[in-house]
Formats: sequence, C-alpha cells, structure tokens
Amino acid sequence: MTVAPISPALLRPVETLPGIGTTRAKVLQKLGVRTLGDLLEYFPRDYQFESSERPVSQLVDDQIQTARGEVVAVDYIPSRPRPRFEATLDDGTDKLSLTWFHGAYLRGRIHPGMSLRVQGKVSFFRNIAKMVQAKWEVVDGDTARVEESKFRPIYPATLRLPSEMIQKIIEQNLPDALAEVEEWFDPALLHRRGMLPRREAYRAIHLPKDLDEALRARRRIIYDELMLMQLGLGISKRLREGRITAPVMRLDKLLDQRIRARFPFSMTNAQQNAVWQIARDLGSGKPMNRLLQGDVGSGKTIVALYAMLVGVANRLQAVLLAPTEVLAEQHYLTLSNLLAGSNVSLGLFTSRTKRQKKTTGLKDLAAGKLHLAVGTQALIQEDVEFANLGLVVVDEQHKLGVRQRAVLKSKGLAPHYLVMTATPIPRTLALSFFADFDVSVIDALPPGRQPIQTRWLRPSQSDSAYEFIRKQVQAGRQAYIVLPQIDDNGLEDSKSVVKEHERLGKGPLADLRLAALHGQMNTDEKHQIMTAFRDRQTDVLIATTVIEVGIDVPNATVIVIDNAERFGLSQLHQLRGRVGRGSETSYCLLISDPSNEHTEARLRAMTQTTDGFEIAEMDLKLRGPGEFFGTRQHGLPEFKLADVTNEMELLHQAKEDAQAMLAEDPRLTHPAHRHLRMALSKQLGDTLSLAQIG
Ligand code: ADP
Ligand code: MG
Repeated sequence: MTVAPISPALLRPVETLPGIGTTRAKVLQKLGVRTLGDLLEYFPRDYQFESSERPVSQLVDDQIQTARGEVVAVDYIPSRPRPRFEATLDDGTDKLSLTWFHGAYLRGRIHPGMSLRVQGKVSFFRNIAKMVQAKWEVVDGDTARVEESKFRPIYPATLRLPSEMIQKIIEQNLPDALAEVEEWFDPALLHRRGMLPRREAYRAIHLPKDLDEALRARRRIIYDELMLMQLGLGISKRLREGRITAPVMRLDKLLDQRIRARFPFSMTNAQQNAVWQIARDLGSGKPMNRLLQGDVGSGKTIVALYAMLVGVANRLQAVLLAPTEVLAEQHYLTLSNLLAGSNVSLGLFTSRTKRQKKTTGLKDLAAGKLHLAVGTQALIQEDVEFANLGLVVVDEQHKLGVRQRAVLKSKGLAPHYLVMTATPIPRTLALSFFADFDVSVIDALPPGRQPIQTRWLRPSQSDSAYEFIRKQVQAGRQAYIVLPQIDDNGLEDSKSVVKEHERLGKGPLADLRLAALHGQMNTDEKHQIMTAFRDRQTDVLIATTVIEVGIDVPNATVIVIDNAERFGLSQLHQLRGRVGRGSETSYCLLISDPSNEHTEARLRAMTQTTDGFEIAEMDLKLRGPGEFFGTRQHGLPEFKLADVTNEMELLHQAKEDAQAMLAEDPRLTHPAHRHLRMALSKQLGDTLSLAQIG
C-alpha cells in the first residue's frame, strides 16, 4: 500500500533528474526508486544530530567527537574472549586508530580505500588518538567536512550510494517534487488532529529542523497511509454489503462422507472444526468472509478443497487463487491427484497457460463446464466469465484485492470468500485490516510430524552442512539451499543463487544433482525446475525466497539458509516450513555470523521453537519500538512508514475520520476530495467508479 502520488511530473524517471547519472540511477532503481515520486517517498529511516567534524590532529582527550578520513589499514584479531576488528583512519593531518570488539561482522564491510565518518569517545594511547566501538558510516570521499553541527536524515543506503549522497539528491529534487503534492483533507480536520499540511509534511520528513518536526511529519504521512487503508476498507465493505445474499450451499452427511473419502488421510480435529465453521457460513445465505489461519504445514489446502467440493456438489463453481505461479501449479497438481477419477473438472490459469488452452478454459468456465479453477490473481480479469461462481479461495495473499472483488461485483457476482494465511495476525491488525473477517484457526499439525531440528552454524562450519546434505541425499531425501539474492551484483556482500550454484556444483556438492531457482527466470524455466525437483530428478534446489510460500515437497528434509541474518524471523519460519512435511525427521540449518544482538536473538529464537505463534510474537517484540521507523511485517499489508502494531492511536483516529468522511460523501465525489479520490482509485484500481455503477 502506498501513498504514491499521481501527477505526471512525479512519474519522471530518475535518470532524467538533475544530480543523477546513469550509474546512480541504476543503484537507485535497485533501491526501488524509479521516479521522482519514488524519490519523494524514499523516507529516512532515522535522524542524526551531527556534530561538527574535527581534523584528527585536533581531537581532544575524553570527549565524544566526530572525524573522517580514509581507511588505510584493517585487521581482524580473533583472540578470545574478545576478538576485535581494527582499522586505521588517515585524514592527512594525523592517524586515528579504531577498535570494535566482537567486530567480525565488519570484515568485508570496512576495507582500505573507503572513506568513513566516525563518532565516538576519543582517548589517547602513546600519542595516537583512538576510538572504541565508534559509530561509523561510509561517506563520499569528495564531500567537504561538516563544519557546523546540524540535524540530518539517515536514508537506507548501500555501499555504492551512501546516505549522504541520497540526501543530496533528494534535497536537489525536493522543490520540484513538493510542487506536485496536493492536500487530501479538509483543513479543519487537519487542525483538529494537529496534523501538518501534506506538502509541509513531505518537506519536513526529509529536511526537518529538529527531531520534533521530523516526528510530526512522519505522523502526518502515516495518518495518510492509514486513511487510505480505512477508506479502501470502508468502500469495499459498502460494495459487499450492497448485495447481501450469497448462494446457499447445502451439506449433508452423505456429501460429507463422499468428500472425506477423497482424502488420503483423516482430518485433524482442528481441520474438522474449521470445515464445520466454513460449512455453516456457506449454508447461511450471507457471503462468507473468513480468514483461515494455520501455521505452515497445518493442512489448510484440504480444508479449502473441502469447501470447494461443497460448492461443486451444489452446482456452483469455485476458484483458488495463489500468490505465485509456482504455487498455483502446485495446487493444481495436488487437486488433480485428489480428484483423479471423479467427475469434477479442474482448470489451471497462469500466464504460462498456452493462449489456446486458456481461451478454451475461459469458454468452459463461462459455460459452466469447468467446476474448479486454479490460478494466480490475474485470473480475475475483466474478460473472465463464470456460469455460477460460488466460492473464491485466496491463498497467502492478504492484500487480496478489493480490486478482484470489484471485478466480480461488476459481473453481478457475490461469491463466498475464504482467505488462507500462515501469518498469525496480531490483534491490532485483526482490528483494522481484517475488521470484517471471521477467523478460523487450525492450531495443531497433522499427526506423526516430527519437530524440525534447527541448528545454527557459523560460516566456517558450512562444510558440515554440505556433508549433511550429502548424507540425506544418499538416504533418498532432497534439500533446499536458500540465499538472499539472485546474483552478486545485488546491494550488499552476501551470497547469491547464481554464484553458489556454480561454486557448489564445482566443489562441495559436485557429486549431486543441483538446480537453481529464482524469480527472474521465465515461467517455463521455473516450472521445469520445480517439476524436476518434485519428481526427484534433482537432489538440491538452490533458490531465493521464491520457495518461501506454500511449496510442498514432502521428500525434502533439509533446508539450509545461508546468510540467515538477512532474513526476518517470520520469513525464516516460513522458509523452514518447506521441510518437515512428511514423516521423516527434517532439519533446518542456518548459516550466519552473529553480527549483532538482533540477529543473534532471531537465530536463537529459531533454534528454540518451531511454533509459529511464538515466533510471530517474538518477531513483534524484537522489531518493536526499538526500531525507529516502520517495518515490513512479512505478508501483511505494506506501508511505507506505518507500523500498524505501533500506531494504535493513530489507527483509531483514522478509522473514525474515514467513517465520518464516507458517511457524508460515500463515493468521495465532493470536489474537495478530488485528490484523495484519485490517490484511492490509483491504489484500488477502478473500484471507485465501479462503486458508482454498482
Ligand atoms: P499449509 O497449511 O502450509 O498450506 P498444506 O495444506 O500444504 O499445509 O499441508 C501440508 C502437508 O500436510 C501436505 O503434504 C498435506 O498433504 C499434509 N496433510 C494435510 N492434512 C493432513 C492430515 N490431516 N493428516 C496427514 N497429513 C496431512
Ligand atoms: Mg499452503
């Protein structure tokens, strides 16, 4: 979810802007900044009060001071119990000696030739100035020293584009961008809520005169994000309520038995309860809007299939939407196997589906010849027709669109909805984003599952991980190796799929059958690689997080996550859920240096529990208010700034204000709401105009 503005000027590509050459434009693009508007919304992650810098020769004893210079030497001394990283800085006036205890993580980050700004308490040892555990940042060697103390923003940066440079680029382009920022809300409302004007907020978040102003700017921008969300929810709710009846699906004992007979196992009590709640909704005549929440591997798919088959028995169609093509294909396979030999017809719709097949498929859907459709969200396009759609199941996609609903609504359809998720929804979010969902929880795993054994290895021990993989493969199992990036031209110095595939294939895993999988491959390639892995034609799949969600290959019993510090806790848990899906004991090996407290806490949590709810709670706690600015909770609606778990009060205000606004102006057609309406319809697709038709 974004407050992305919409004027054409804001769509100007970054490479055409002053102060940005092709090289910088490339780095910016990697950071997700493609246009002037993106730049405007590239918010600082923190602020710093910057004290003036002194030449090293003028540093004085026993005070916190700031200096800068070129790194001329580095060294890592692994002696126990306090291994340390040392660097020498030279600014032409003198040398400054820097020490970081437990600084192993700085190897490869700080190296000779780079310019650093450092801040810390100065002491002298044999006439040489010294700082211990200094704060540091990479600076552009050519920029002048800071002569005056000032307050400045810190941007999420990379080695090639330091925060300082980003700041310069933004300052240079800010006036042009600000000129395009329009006010969304009534001044009286803003006054009542103590909000800065919108344009002012965008200025002050980048160029605050002090921390107080920065916080006020942030508050306004978060408010806008929350308002958009609340207005979107309000409007979609109105859309839904506009049509109160949904098809009534009947379920009796016989049908129940017939459906269960399709499953190769009996359902757990938790699954039965969920099924029962769903069946009641489906028979109620009111559209179901239910969230099915269950940890990875808890068996949500079967529950969804049950519901879909109830639909089919009632002569209604059902669709299952997956977030990725890989996952859609997997669901299709699962369903085809379970339905083999039945009269139920099933179609797959992804961008891979051949044109002709798709055309036939769509025809069959429209004619009612196809009972079930599996696809990505792209299936719900303007051109899709259903004979009698009764149920939409959405897997792992919380942002399920108001948009898809609007499309269906525009076709006069009001199906039941079931949304599946493995992410436990914090209460605050349940109150807001999922306010009008009923929730079913699957709180137990299928029987016979062995808890996944999780170990944390140092990079120096990675050979033992490969050795372990080899043993498991000899025993007939398969393995995943997950890496944080596709190729080594990424942002930071971590391992990549392409390079590791090459390295492991020549070295440590030369005797195994390896394959690489990542998001930049075309869909045919992805499909072939996934199918080969499922059919056990490859032993080890080396992948990015494309395998994060839903992939179900029970024969895979090992997952190695390298550079594990690069993943969030919930994400690590999701990835781990790729193994432990069969009756064999499974293993998760995390490879990482303990670079800081937070990483250490995350990795330790992983080795201590396999319970998704506990993990989610810890994740929240770890991220908590400790982080100055918003976080991206895996799988939850994305905001640029708002961390909904920490913005309770603002959330309540936004909810109240949005409701009041819609009560007066349900379709936001009032001229004063023009800009707001444009921002909303950009975000929600065509929903608003559809609302007017419907
Ligand atoms: P998720 O909730 O993560 O989507 P899946 O639906 O993919 O989980 O199920 C995980 C695995 O557990 C699948 O291989 C599925 O066949 C199996 N499974 C699901 N329910 C049961 C059950 N009641 N008994 C045994 N195995 C089950
Ligand atoms: Mg699943």
